[in-house]
Amino acid sequence: MKDIKRRSVILLSLLLVIGFLFTSFVSYLTAHDSINSQVTTSTLPLTSDNIYSEIQRDLLRPIFISSMMAKDTFVRDWVLDGEGNEDEIIKYLKEVQEQYGAVTSFFVSDKSRKYYHSSGVLRIVEPFNKQDVWYFRVQKMSQNYEINVDTDTSDRSSLTVFINHKVYDYSGNYIGAIGVGLALNKVKELIENYNHRYGKGVYFINSDGLVMLRGGASNHIDDIHQITGLSKFSKQITSSLNSSIKYKDGNNDVFLNSRFIPEFGWYLIVVQENDEVQTRLQNTLFMNLIVSFVISIIIILLVNLIIANYQKKLETMATTDKLTGAANRHMFDVLFKQAHAQSKLSSGGSLSAIMFDLDYFKQINDTYGHPTGDVVLKKLTQTIKSMLRESDLIFRWGGEEFFLILPETDLKVAYEMAEKIREEISGLNVVFAGKNISVTISLGVACIGPNESSNELIEHADTALYLAKNNGRDRTECYQI
Ligand code: GH3
Ligand code: MG
Ligand code: MG
Repeated sequence: MKDIKRRSVILLSLLLVIGFLFTSFVSYLTAHDSINSQVTTSTLPLTSDNIYSEIQRDLLRPIFISSMMAKDTFVRDWVLDGEGNEDEIIKYLKEVQEQYGAVTSFFVSDKSRKYYHSSGVLRIVEPFNKQDVWYFRVQKMSQNYEINVDTDTSDRSSLTVFINHKVYDYSGNYIGAIGVGLALNKVKELIENYNHRYGKGVYFINSDGLVMLRGGASNHIDDIHQITGLSKFSKQITSSLNSSIKYKDGNNDVFLNSRFIPEFGWYLIVVQENDEVQTRLQNTLFMNLIVSFVISIIIILLVNLIIANYQKKLETMATTDKLTGAANRHMFDVLFKQAHAQSKLSSGGSLSAIMFDLDYFKQINDTYGHPTGDVVLKKLTQTIKSMLRESDLIFRWGGEEFFLILPETDLKVAYEMAEKIREEISGLNVVFAGKNISVTISLGVACIGPNESSNELIEHADTALYLAKNNGRDRTECYQI
């Protein structure tokens, strides 16, 4: 029985532990995978799309201003009239710059090669001058304008975009290049916003992997080759229009999305470190495991308790008589051995037994009915139990026959006890269903002799009881050797 209990508890514990571990880890892995795929397939590309569309919106303004300047009849007439009063074009450029909040505004005449600026004539552009290369590029290009992005080398978070627009006369002949330079504040704001609000790193790199633009608060890496986990992906990033990669920065998984921005010739990089999500997931897993552990312990304790309770009930059922609560005959051997050993230790082995039986009990059943007989048996047992010592044992030996073991008791004391019991029972008045019922018992007393077995003791007590019955009932007889 104990073994079955232990095995059931072990099996149940194993089932619970395996079940909980399995479900916890499966849900952890599922959440982990779905978050990873959400980051790479949706979050980062969306961020990248948003930034790109903001950039395009930001670029529209300088393009519009430059195109308007290129079509301005004043500019064209002034050039065609021979670039007479230089103050006029300087004033015009100054006006445009102020009105649109531009960083700079300029016009380069193809005829005079003069570089007009809002602050005056800066210089004559020369094909071999490095800073004038842009002009001769514009002169030869087929499209109407180009976008030229420039960063302030001292502040990588500030970005100026120059629109170099071609100017034609009324017959379509090229006469110069005009345009403005505007700070791309929106792009900068956007990058900072993403950096702060979403914890996403946003920056731009050129085709060599050099960081060209980043938010003020973002990391101060100047080259993606400086990031150990990322450097091996630099080729992959700069050779495709779009890429999604995952790399390790220390212990953290970092997800990276890149996108080529043709207007700048740069790559927009959006990264998200997964450590926060990872920690949250791990905490959830940890909590799950703790809750599972606590539930397992509670279930195991409950099952243990239920089994123990059930076991106790079964044991009681197997050892006790249900009606009277006296021990049953099956328990005799075990309990007798204990009592006998105890008696031997403390009083040299004197142990007595009383066998008693109700007198004419059949008549009681016949007269008042079987249930009344049951009540009588119950009442009788209760009464006798209350007279016994803690160490005394009472067995229901047969239907209405009982056997008492009195340890550390000699024949004389046992006889006195038997008489006391007899008198108590004969004076007992059982009231049931309005009827007064009285009963008597006959008792046989025996004391165990040296080297006598329990069977002999039973036999002797039985013989004495038989004598008591024969001698008229409601009396006690002792077994005499
Ligand atoms: P005696 O004085 O010779 O012992 O006469 P008796 O009638 O007591 O003896 P007998 O052996 O003829 O009858 C015993 C009766 O006890 C018969 C049986 O119905 C009754 N009995 C045995 N067990 C129970 C029980 O659990 N409940 C009830 N109500 N009666 C029981
Ligand atoms: Mg009887
Ligand atoms: Mg009997």
